[in-house]
Amino acid sequence: MPGFERFGNDERKEVNDVLKTGVLMRYGFEGMREGHFKAKELEELIQSIFKVKHAHVLSSGTAAVTTALAVAGVGHGDEVIMPSFTFVATFEAIISVGAIPIVVDIDDTLTLDPKAVEAAITDKTKAIMPVHMCGSMAQLDKLASLCLKHNLVLIEDACQAIGGTYQGKALGTIGDLGCFSFDYVKTVTCGEGGAVITDNDKFAKLANQFTDHGHDHKGQDRGAEKHPHLGFNFRLSELNAAVGVAQFKKLSEFLDVQKTNYQIIKESLQSIPQLEFRRVPEGGVENYGFLNFFLPNYKTAAKVAAHFKECGIDGCFHYYDNNWHYVRKWRHLKSAKSLFPLNPQTVESLEKLGNKSFKQSDHYIGRNISCLIKLGWSKKEVKNR
Ligand SMILES: *Cc1c(COP(=O)(O)O)cnc(C)c1O
Repeated sequence: MPGFERFGNDERKEVNDVLKTGVLMRYGFEGMREGHFKAKELEELIQSIFKVKHAHVLSSGTAAVTTALAVAGVGHGDEVIMPSFTFVATFEAIISVGAIPIVVDIDDTLTLDPKAVEAAITDKTKAIMPVHMCGSMAQLDKLASLCLKHNLVLIEDACQAIGGTYQGKALGTIGDLGCFSFDYVKTVTCGEGGAVITDNDKFAKLANQFTDHGHDHKGQDRGAEKHPHLGFNFRLSELNAAVGVAQFKKLSEFLDVQKTNYQIIKESLQSIPQLEFRRVPEGGVENYGFLNFFLPNYKTAAKVAAHFKECGIDGCFHYYDNNWHYVRKWRHLKSAKSLFPLNPQTVESLEKLGNKSFKQSDHYIGRNISCLIKLGWSKKEVKNR
């Protein structure tokens, strides 16, 4: 998955364009920037690669999820349905807008189980947020029809699945809004960064304003611009954007290498009868950033993970015992340990979460091993794995 493995002259050239002018800010300074608008260029690149009407780049994937929720009008007291297996950022973003995370089970796709989602819908539900963990997706057609039926927003956290597709469409472009991360370990990196993508003109305009203190971006003079609503500073700097431009130009090459390496390893594991691969929903194509498989039980999975470690095989995760990605270990979140007081409904729901059991998720995550696919492996290294 990591684009940082392919950092080189392309990235340096783009960054040098910015360093030569010294304009590090994406807005303004027209006279000094010698025509370089790296953030804008990155947005146009993303729009053309993913065939989406709008892309707005910002400072992180966490900022992308927060912005997606904000522009969809999700806030105080609203419930957002999210999976038990994700990165904690999803959870943090929901809390940060004052909404209530409703955590539900995953299935053998390692993402939201549509049945669990349907059972969790209440009159307070405002959004469903599938997280395309480890490069693959949930049954998005089922989630989309639930959204249609109950008038909910579908927000895809596609931070780990850049380049995957579902029914011929890029992941992130199926819901009302999609979120990408370009942090240090993602498929495409720019150090820290992310994007919100959407075909919805209103959401795009609001994302553009929200991420820059609510500036309407209508004038030449920043000081004279209007601020129609509250916002934050989630801007991406030109330096980071420049790295992103170089990386996105190589995305299809990254994806090809991942696919090749993934297939070699998958083939070699195919003959092990006790091993089952993760289910990819019909019509879905992974981005091949991870190879995921299930072992017969928790004990075997833990043993295999420990054995991999002993042999020096890095990048293989047994997420069941992991603090960041699986609900079982989110003690600080379940006990509502916040630096500032949270709204009482959120606190109540977090306390409930502490008592909730996730038997179905345990059944899958307990047996799952998730192996990162690297770009920099030589042919020999792939074969030896
Ligand atoms: C990385 C990640 C994020 C957050 O992205 P950052 O850029 O690190 O803030 C959100 N969701 C998922 C699933 C991620 O993997």
